[in-house]
Amino acid sequence: RAKERGGNTYEFYAEEIGAHAEKRLLLENELRRALNRDEFVLHYQPQVDSATGRPCGFEALIRWQHPERGLVPPGDFIPILEETGMIVEVGDWVLQTALRQLADWHRRGWDGLTMAVNLSSRQFERSGLPETLERALNEHGLDPGVLELEITEGTLMQDVASTTFTLQQLSRSGFGIALDDFGTGYSSLSYLSKFPFTTLKIDRAFVRDIPGDPDHTAITRAIVAMGQGLRLRLVAEGVETEEQRAFLNGLGCSLMQGYLYSRPLSAAAATAWLADSV
Ligand code: C2E
Ligand code: MG
Ligand code: MG
Repeated sequence: RAKERGGNTYEFYAEEIGAHAEKRLLLENELRRALNRDEFVLHYQPQVDSATGRPCGFEALIRWQHPERGLVPPGDFIPILEETGMIVEVGDWVLQTALRQLADWHRRGWDGLTMAVNLSSRQFERSGLPETLERALNEHGLDPGVLELEITEGTLMQDVASTTFTLQQLSRSGFGIALDDFGTGYSSLSYLSKFPFTTLKIDRAFVRDIPGDPDHTAITRAIVAMGQGLRLRLVAEGVETEEQRAFLNGLGCSLMQGYLYSRPLSAAAATAWLADSV
């Protein structure tokens, strides 16, 4: 179609597509080197029990410390890691790094803390995920219960049969399993009882608009009631204001993660934050 509009337009499009493909290839190559060059870092965001004000754990969130472009957020490179399959190797690095950090905090006396780690579907498809996880835990002398694996509805839907099998295996081994970004995907509510979740994370999209927006407030209320009925641990994501905190607490959802308590922090900053708060 571009060609119909004349030679110049066609050339313009071809150039643009070429530039895009080139940029993408460059990025892919840079990402391949990033692991060896130690350019990935984990930041840790506290999860707080707002009823007591005490931290109960952290979520590990990856960033790319790019030599020229600075700190690159995961949304800019996780999709490429997933497409190329590099996410499996990077995911192993994430697990190792997060568990080493957690073991360090436990040794320093903060031994009640848990660590939540995000898993992508590619990591699930690979056989031996439970064994890999158990080996990593043993290496750091940690119990499976301190690790919470976060998966999204999208991951669940990729391959329901094999995901069910793996999740059941992980659940029997004692790992925590959280359904991340709950309410934004396409999974059926019956999945909540079909899969062995221990935690439900209420998506920031709902939390953002409470208590002002009546629809999102009603949805949040329903999610909390359902989670309580199913005896799931509930964590509200993206809590930014005192008003949101008070409202969620009133519903009986006391575990929270959000800028109100802290942004994701470097390992050193998270340790300082812990020292300040407990
Ligand atoms: P997520 O797992 O839902 O993580 C929560 C995101 O919300 C994080 O964004 C966090 O910085 C942000 N957030 C937390 N509290 C607030 C708040 O109060 N307000 C606002 N506006 N945002 C808040 P981040 O770090 O950019 O991560 C984005 C997504 O990238 C994550 O969403 C997760 O799906 C993915 N991701 C991060 N690390 C990893 C990883 O190691 N492996 C995989 N597979 N995915 C990862
Ligand atoms: Mg998450
Ligand atoms: Mg989330």
